[in-house]
Amino acid sequence: MPDIISIVLANSAIYLSFYLVLLGFSRYLSVPIPKSSWLSLVGFCVTVAGMMYFTYTQYDVNARIMIMSSTSVMQLVLISLLLLKGNEEFGKASMRVLSLICLLSASYFALRGLIVSQSVQLGFFMDAGLLHSMVLIVYQVLVVSFSFSIVWMTTTNLELKLRLQASLDPLTQVYNRRALDEIVADRDVSSKLNQVPLSAIMLDIDYFKKLNDGHGHKAGDTVLQKLAMILTKNTRENDSVACYGGEEFIILLPNTSREQAERMAENLRVQLSDEHFSLDNGSDEALHISASFGVATRESEVENWENVFKRVDVALYKAKRTGRNKVESA
Ligand code: GH3
Ligand code: MG
Ligand code: MG
Repeated sequence: MPDIISIVLANSAIYLSFYLVLLGFSRYLSVPIPKSSWLSLVGFCVTVAGMMYFTYTQYDVNARIMIMSSTSVMQLVLISLLLLKGNEEFGKASMRVLSLICLLSASYFALRGLIVSQSVQLGFFMDAGLLHSMVLIVYQVLVVSFSFSIVWMTTTNLELKLRLQASLDPLTQVYNRRALDEIVADRDVSSKLNQVPLSAIMLDIDYFKKLNDGHGHKAGDTVLQKLAMILTKNTRENDSVACYGGEEFIILLPNTSREQAERMAENLRVQLSDEHFSLDNGSDEALHISASFGVATRESEVENWENVFKRVDVALYKAKRTGRNKVESA
């Protein structure tokens, strides 16, 4: 093969492929390319010019190896830094393992460049000993690792999305009943372990059927979505908001006493009744809703959660019966 293909084009292609890997991971993992990536353009020019110069003007295999080694080190370090900043939803493990492989390969290239800078002029690199012929293996390890890691990251990401989807209510995007059961079990254990109170708020929109009848089911859905957002925004990070059925919600409050839970419920009640719910249909009309709240706290460590839910339900029913738009405690 003529040198222009086997040396100049081939090495430039290797350089470009590393750059594409950097770009690809940057887009895939949504991490902006590091500021120093202008180095990549400089590196490309150096590679092309260097390969031309040390092939046609002054034939020097060692110089070519040094150029390729140093640009490969630079690119692998950039890729590895980018991987360490990747979004956790792609799996920390996969990104760290690939980052490590990149760094190990970069060390190999650094070593090769360093040794070649001290040695006599080489001939064909495949005949120049293991250190040099190994370069083909290192490239292959990298290609396989990049491909494998993409599969690993994608699987991790899909699994996470799937699990999230299975645990969220499709309309309101808060936890569904299934997820609530799991969260309750988990919180139950930790609250007993830490001997802290665990409370729950249950709320149900008042006269929601009327709203549906008067404005349509779609408007009702919009109200439910906004209501879920308000609940999420006005609760703490450790609280869990769940849709318990059509327009009933449960909020689980770990490490929260009855008084605190009542205060939170009252705060939510006021927030909801003050809110103007726009209909998202282009009209200026805004709806007002109210909701009734039940609050319950686990009385003793022996009380099971079914019982707490029963009590919170009774409290909510009492709020409904005694006038609505109010908080009742079990
Ligand atoms: P109240 O609670 O004050 O006693 O009266 P209500 O009219 O709200 O009665 P209820 O709590 O039994 O309301 C159930 C109604 O909620 C039935 C249905 O019209 C509406 N609903 C339930 N799920 C959904 C939903 O996903 N979307 C919409 N738009 N409406 C729903
Ligand atoms: Mg209801
Ligand atoms: Mg209702």
